[in-house]
Amino acid sequence: MKKKIKELVEFLNKNKPVRSINIMEVCGTHTMAISRYGLRQLIPENINLISGPGCPVCVTPTSDIDWIIEIARQYDVSVFTFGDMFRVPGTESSLYNERSRGRDIKICYSPADVLNFAKNNPDKKVIFIAIGFETTVPLTSVIVKRAYKENIDNFFIYNTHKLVPEALELLLVDREVKINAFLCPGHVSVIIGSKPYNFIAEDYHIPCVISGFEPMDILESIATIIRQINKGIAEVEIQYRRVVREEGNPTAVKLMYEVFDKSDSLWRGLGNISGSGLKLKNKFLKFDAKTFFPVKRIKSREPAGCECGDVLKGIKKPAECRLFSKICKPENPVGPCMVSSEGSCAAYYKYEKLKV
Ligand code: SF4
Repeated sequence: MKKKIKELVEFLNKNKPVRSINIMEVCGTHTMAISRYGLRQLIPENINLISGPGCPVCVTPTSDIDWIIEIARQYDVSVFTFGDMFRVPGTESSLYNERSRGRDIKICYSPADVLNFAKNNPDKKVIFIAIGFETTVPLTSVIVKRAYKENIDNFFIYNTHKLVPEALELLLVDREVKINAFLCPGHVSVIIGSKPYNFIAEDYHIPCVISGFEPMDILESIATIIRQINKGIAEVEIQYRRVVREEGNPTAVKLMYEVFDKSDSLWRGLGNISGSGLKLKNKFLKFDAKTFFPVKRIKSREPAGCECGDVLKGIKKPAECRLFSKICKPENPVGPCMVSSEGSCAAYYKYEKLKV
């Protein structure tokens, strides 16, 4: 393994591009691995690794957090969330703060557990915050179908699911962001395969490599990108062959679209992206928390001084935010990129603070 890493580093140094290039990693797990293993320091300086919108918690806009909080305040409900969402600041509060004020907000590890809770507590109205990209949508779909089949009428989802390829296209047409290649997400690609990225190579001439998460995987993927750039070609390649197939997992994709239709979706930092979200099909609309629990909405604001929006677009690195490691720290996060275990600010703070 060490020998292979050494060879890859040597290859990159010998074959580094003549100009400076930006490679965006589109997955929070890649971001964490790059920082954790010090990969930025191993590769030539003119290969710039920038983080993209690959952390689902980070790209969930403040307005969704505010909305969930208002539901918890205005209705007698039990809200279940994955741990990372718990401490993300909304405009005035967070789920964590609301729990300390007596709202019934719990951390969960699986939507199946939440559905079981709803079944075992028929007198409670139970909401699961459904979050994540294509990786987690099939699981939510299974649970919604189960709730439908078993006619469970006290279970709801607050749906924030998002789709990755549509967000990448937005970044490519955005003149502020200069991307020369994508390190595509491994987990998402297990579900969707490699074909949904073909337009990036064909229409925008941008190389895409679907990468695994080990240091060697990431270095090998970067080397593949450099080979393409040096040859002047742009293709979609799969480095993470151990789990990703070109066609993805058609059964999981079919399941997704049995329950959801594509819709527009609001992303933190990126705005409203056409076709980048999912909405429940009419048949399953009775499980939609937003429909079932209408709320008087507050005017949402981003946290003052927080530059998560620019960090998620790859325009700024975490350390370029004035609050980074001064006011904003994991124990006192100002924005979601410092809260989430996949957030770039958290990755830089944990592993690269002293190097930036
Ligand atoms: S350092 Fe904190 S305030 Fe700055 S962009 Fe990151 S999360 Fe937001």
